[in-house]
Amino acid sequence: MDYRTYLRYHPDENGYFGEYGGAFLTEELKDAMAEITEAYHTIAQSAQFVNELRRIRKDFQGRPTPVYHCERLSRVNGGAQIYLKREDLNHSGAHKLNHCMGECLLAKYMGKKKVIAETGAGQHGVALAMAAAFFGLECDIYMGEVDIAKQGPNVTRMKILGTRVVPVTHGLKTLKEAVDAAFEAYAREYEDAIYCIGSCLGPHPFPLMVRDFQMVVGQEMREQFRDMMGHEPDVVCACVGGGSNSLGTFVPFLDSAVELYGVEPLGKGDALGDHAASMKHGTPGIMHGFNSIMLKDENGEPAPVYSIASGLDYPSVGPEHAYLRSLGRVQYDAVSDEEAVRAFFALSKYEGIIPALESSHAVAFAMKKAKEMKTGSILVTLSGRGDKDVDYVVEHYGFGEQFQL
Ligand SMILES: *Cc1c(COP(=O)(O)O)cnc(C)c1O
Repeated sequence: MDYRTYLRYHPDENGYFGEYGGAFLTEELKDAMAEITEAYHTIAQSAQFVNELRRIRKDFQGRPTPVYHCERLSRVNGGAQIYLKREDLNHSGAHKLNHCMGECLLAKYMGKKKVIAETGAGQHGVALAMAAAFFGLECDIYMGEVDIAKQGPNVTRMKILGTRVVPVTHGLKTLKEAVDAAFEAYAREYEDAIYCIGSCLGPHPFPLMVRDFQMVVGQEMREQFRDMMGHEPDVVCACVGGGSNSLGTFVPFLDSAVELYGVEPLGKGDALGDHAASMKHGTPGIMHGFNSIMLKDENGEPAPVYSIASGLDYPSVGPEHAYLRSLGRVQYDAVSDEEAVRAFFALSKYEGIIPALESSHAVAFAMKKAKEMKTGSILVTLSGRGDKDVDYVVEHYGFGEQFQL
């Protein structure tokens, strides 16, 4: 089946991918979501919208990002050849801007004046702040006070870009409270504002919209690799937090014979609280407005999660991932902090590319898989650059001498 045919039926009209997805909403948010769904199915499919987004991607974001052959890393690693899709070279230094530009363009076409979101580590906040500045939209980012204190540079970036960072001061003062605060604000302000989610998560239509906006990654890389090599890669992999860079990568390959792997963070190990490997250790459940696989504590609430890569520590995964695994079309593996940091140094040292710690998980998996395969090719989505992570890594791991690369 052509993947475009898959797109027509996934999700279904109620936002379900098989048994996963849906929209579990309070009454006041139902109208707001219906308005976004309607706008997405009409405005965002118009030729004018599609052409404007295409122009923005080229002139502002610098797309297409290249596909690059890691010759030295492949040689020292010993095994299959490793290639990267360079989302670290997308403007802002990561893939998140792909869907933020789409969401803000939709906001503009809908006549909204403001975009609202929450952020944890600040990466989504910065990407949305950039997109809002580009379109001349106001931007309110809700952020826990604890996270504001920890993420100084991202808070500064958002403010420089003209965004209002709203501190959330109740509960644990982190991401969970920020999500609630952003939704409350949206329920109050939805006449003038649109809520913009940061990954393929949340109630319908967000998993659909974000996947579609991120598919530019997979579409480009499939074509680029074919132009370069004359055939498909054997394996494609990407890291999975909520699942946006990975679904954007995988879906345009669904109608190929390519093996697809999502890579989750195993953090410090398999004990609950030490990782954020939802697919490996989670069970079906409903949270944050959608049905998927999630990590739960003893009361059935979202469990505490951990990863060295703050962009990956989320206790669930986008519903389309849960569905693609149930079909057996995508496989999932988990990589520890230690393996990710080793890959961080390997890519830096052998290729001159400092990857984000999130993306380092995908690189670590590729290095392991390449050794097993011995020959063939692995195409990895490098979701972002690592400038944001260098201070943390050096403080905790020095310059990586212990990895004996
Ligand atoms: C946020 C982030 C991720 C994880 O998000 P997904 O929605 O799973 O793609 C991965 N890499 C980078 C660089 C990020 O900023």
